[in-house]
Amino acid sequence: PFDVLIVGGGPAGAAAAVYAARKGIRTGIAAERFGGQVLDTMGIENFISVTETEGPKMVQQLEQHVRHYDVDVMNLQRADKLSHDGELVHVQLASGATLKARTVILSTGARWRQMNVPGENEYRNKGVAYCPHCDGPLFKGKRVSVIGGGNSGVEAAIDLAGIVNHVTLIEYDSQLRADAVLQRKLHSLPNVSVITSAQTTEVTGDGSKVNGLVYKDRVSGETRTIALDGIFVQIGLLPNSEWLKGSLELSPRGEIIVDAKGATSMPGVFAAGDVTTVPYKQIIIAMGEGAKAALSAFDHLIRQQAP
Ligand code: FAD
Repeated sequence: PFDVLIVGGGPAGAAAAVYAARKGIRTGIAAERFGGQVLDTMGIENFISVTETEGPKMVQQLEQHVRHYDVDVMNLQRADKLSHDGELVHVQLASGATLKARTVILSTGARWRQMNVPGENEYRNKGVAYCPHCDGPLFKGKRVSVIGGGNSGVEAAIDLAGIVNHVTLIEYDSQLRADAVLQRKLHSLPNVSVITSAQTTEVTGDGSKVNGLVYKDRVSGETRTIALDGIFVQIGLLPNSEWLKGSLELSPRGEIIVDAKGATSMPGVFAAGDVTTVPYKQIIIAMGEGAKAALSAFDHLIRQQAP
């Protein structure tokens, strides 16, 4: 069996692999797609000590760093089921194989919920964005819209209003769902407008970047357009934890509940990164959490009896 088996090969999993392997213990990493969300990222400007890089380049460096150590890298492997036999943790793969380990680190990340309207995919990273902390500064002085009037949408609109020229917040429902204190803050800002009962139906562009969106007024039924340079979609971040339902404690949002050491409700199983309850989903945070989970797994191992 592995001493530490990591499930998920994004920044959290890569950091966990490096930290575990450096303890000289048997380390494996199984990932559906090594690199995770970073593969889909164009510019990264907030990874501290690296002023500017690109997602695919960072993934190459992550893989190089992991392979510098004796790590069994199993790419293109999806985990389907997690269980514990009292001694070892079992991770069942979609391929049919089962991996066994003394400790497991879950770092399967998350994915942004999409609007699923024409233009959204074509203009992803060309004006369509999902992360205001990441891409907000790219729209300095421009006009953007935020889709979604829950807490994350309203927080994004407040955040962006300090950077961009104008923010239009678009909500499907007849009212915003964010906390009252956030709504008050939002309404106090001079460069924010709010449109409710609006269903976004299309992202438009000039072929190379976003130039607006089309929405349907759900009260009048009329179709309207807004000219824009950017669209931040804030309708939910979905943790990749469906396969863990029933085996581990998850939050109501489906995030793996972890304590300050990254421990989950299953003994010997730790978790890190966007799939957990740890707030603020960022590369640098996921890496720190991955390192922490690996040290916690090691700490767990040295307290177990030698097999
Ligand atoms: P992920 O990166 O999501 O990786 C999850 C890993 O688990 C992947 O390898 C995936 O294939 C694998 N996996 C999932 N399910 C399974 C399964 N069942 N079995 C096996 N493997 C599985 N953050 C920043 O700090 N700066 C930025 O500029 C930035 N820009 C972003 C731009 C975009 C478009 C997106 C989508 C995100 C951006 N982020 C940015 C956020 C950042 O990418 C994430 O916070 C970070 O990647 C989370 O790392 P993670 O390792 O927890 O998960």
